[in-house]
Amino acid sequence: MSRVYNFSAGPAVLPEEVLREAADEMLDYQGSGMSVNEMSHRSKTFQGIIDAAETDLRSLMDIPDNYKVIFVQGGDSLVFASVFMNLALNKRADYIITGNWANKAYKEAEILGDPKIVASSKDKNFSYIPDCSDLPIRDDASYVYICENNTIYGTKFPELPNTKGHELVADQSSMFLSEPVDVTRYGLIHAGVQKNVGPAGVQIVIVREDLIPDDLPGVPTMLRFKTQADAGSLYNTPNCWGIYVCGKVFKWIAAQGGLQGMKEKNVEKAGILYDYLDSSDMFSSTVDPSCRSLMNVPFVTGSPDLDAEFVAAATKAGFVSLKGHRSVGGMRASIYNAMPREGCGQARRLHEGLRDQPLADTSTKNAAGCPDARVAKEIPCTRSTA
Ligand code: PMP
Repeated sequence: MSRVYNFSAGPAVLPEEVLREAADEMLDYQGSGMSVNEMSHRSKTFQGIIDAAETDLRSLMDIPDNYKVIFVQGGDSLVFASVFMNLALNKRADYIITGNWANKAYKEAEILGDPKIVASSKDKNFSYIPDCSDLPIRDDASYVYICENNTIYGTKFPELPNTKGHELVADQSSMFLSEPVDVTRYGLIHAGVQKNVGPAGVQIVIVREDLIPDDLPGVPTMLRFKTQADAGSLYNTPNCWGIYVCGKVFKWIAAQGGLQGMKEKNVEKAGILYDYLDSSDMFSSTVDPSCRSLMNVPFVTGSPDLDAEFVAAATKAGFVSLKGHRSVGGMRASIYNAMPREGCGQARRLHEGLRDQPLADTSTKNAAGCPDARVAKEIPCTRSTA
């Protein structure tokens, strides 16, 4: 068996230990005689799984008791709408647009009410985070919305906006559990788990209790946060498998030193790539250094042809999903929690090797079948696992 270095923006690389454990338990989860995939969500065994997942997440993030944690479905794109339905009771909320996902959240709100854009970095293709120290936030805005880490553009808020006393709502999908955050500074945090935490199909909403309305006329049952908050996320059949894998990832993160440990590793990994990009005469970062993401690292050569050649050569060498999003072009390395440090180091050496040798020469294959002999003699094409 061999595994590639997977730089996908999501669904994305998961810790190997977690995948192995899940594989071992596939036919018989801890003596139950069945897979979690086959188990009633009303069973005592599954109740144990979801309870442990919530407890472990609360402990990792130090979530205060007056916040509810709910596991929902429908995609983070549906949470864009449910956030507005639950929190903007007066139909007014203000949005900071730092990329496609914040914009999509705003567009959902536009269908439902009267949102306002209070800042945007669209003028420079979302390559920076605007100054959010004194925004024209409406007095009656129910909340200020941010996408804290922008998966496509590789930016992250270096500091939280001044909301002028309004609730802060953050989409943390592509940075969830990558570093410590102070939950008390947010009214609501939401995240799709398919980047840093688990398989696609689960979204986690962490919301302060007093923001969950008791009564929401006209809002479907499943879109009311109260429904799942009151039912411990078991109003209907949840994504049992997804929650089970998330629970394992929570334990894995705790074993890595918790969120502080994770942050230290992530700073080091991202540093390997950014230091190289800043010193390279072939590749460059597309993001203002003041707000670079630790998780998503877009970069370009300046030539779309060369970018495409690089992606093709990298793929052959076992570095997959490096192609950038179409709105930025070039490449993007998503280096979530489960990307080993070694993956970033090897990627850097791949870049260095390709810079030293014209891409056209990369058809020369070494004994391992890698395209660039100078790079690949030291870089295994794929990651062999025992
Ligand atoms: N928010 C962010 C920051 C994302 O990166 C994505 C997906 N890549 C979404 C929201 C949308 O998630 P979903 O596909 O689960 O709707």
